[in-house]
Amino acid sequence: MRINVTQSFLPPFEEYQQYLSKIWENKWLTNNGPLLLELESKLKDYLGVENLLYTGNGTIALQIAIKAMALKGEIITTPFSYCATTTSILWENCTPVFVDIHFSDTNINADLIEAAVTENTVAIMATHVYGLPCDVEKIEAIAKKHNLRVIYDAAHAFGVKYKDRSLLDYGDVATCSFHATKVFHTVEGGCIIAQDPDLHEKMMLFRSFGHLGDEYFTVGINGKNSEFHAAMGLCNLPYVGKIIEGRKAVFEVYDEALDFSKVYKPVSHVSDLEYNYAYYPVVLKDEATTRKVIEALNKENIYPRRYFYPSLNQLSYVGEYRQHCPVSEDVSLRVISLPLHPELDPAVVRKVAEIINLNA
Ligand SMILES: *Cc1c(COP(=O)(O)O)cnc(C)c1O
Repeated sequence: MRINVTQSFLPPFEEYQQYLSKIWENKWLTNNGPLLLELESKLKDYLGVENLLYTGNGTIALQIAIKAMALKGEIITTPFSYCATTTSILWENCTPVFVDIHFSDTNINADLIEAAVTENTVAIMATHVYGLPCDVEKIEAIAKKHNLRVIYDAAHAFGVKYKDRSLLDYGDVATCSFHATKVFHTVEGGCIIAQDPDLHEKMMLFRSFGHLGDEYFTVGINGKNSEFHAAMGLCNLPYVGKIIEGRKAVFEVYDEALDFSKVYKPVSHVSDLEYNYAYYPVVLKDEATTRKVIEALNKENIYPRRYFYPSLNQLSYVGEYRQHCPVSEDVSLRVISLPLHPELDPAVVRKVAEIINLNA
């Protein structure tokens, strides 16, 4: 059996079927239907946030945030994330300015941000990589001092709490992805959380073509999602606690079985953290070892992923914006995320660890 980096959670089939029956009764398939509104309301409760928009995916969420804040100019960002963090900046015709990461938690190094601020800087867009929180206090202080907006790509952070508050409640705006591979998913989907209710209203308009009732207010986009996706969210949300528990159990088997004299696991700087066990990344000695380990795992039909490779500042299409980020460039060459999902057999986890220990 092929072992992938993750396996999407599926709720009991009958539970999804019950929601399908409702859709058939309502004959309402998309455009902010009753299931979508119910999901938004339940997500707000679960996350403890006021202003939340359910979107088509996590990438359009980032783009709508940039667009609605009318950001023009330089956005300071991390080179160590999924490509959507960078492409959303480029797609909205802003300039990414890459600031290097901390080795220890692989998040943007807040101590390096101020040196990158220029008169053209308008925002900071950072990712809570692997669900580990960025230095949110330091970033907020810098943003205040220089009058910058803060957007967090919190695609990995669903279910994470920092200081007893959802990590999605930090920043002017936080976005999340509910893609099938994430801790909580709706097949495709995402959300935008805004602190400012006016910005929230504006983003709601942008999500639906800039069109409300009979009026056409602005150039918007289609960032909506459907009743079928919302139904999957409503089915999955009650299982999030169990999913995180199951991930934690797998996580602990890796913790026990891996030889940490050979691999490094990114860890958070902060103590007041409730984690979601979204990923199990390990940093190996060098790129050659990384390739060797991947090959050895593949031979056993085990497929880790190179999250994240390449370092985004080295993407061909960032060309002229390319800053040197030595830590990110180094880590991205020798990091892999190991298979992790609640139903992963502990025996498989031990086998993965054994192969790594032997080859690292
Ligand atoms: C998954 C992911 C996204 C993209 O989300 P989609 O819902 O697939 O559009 C963006 N940023 C990060 C860090 C991600 O992991």
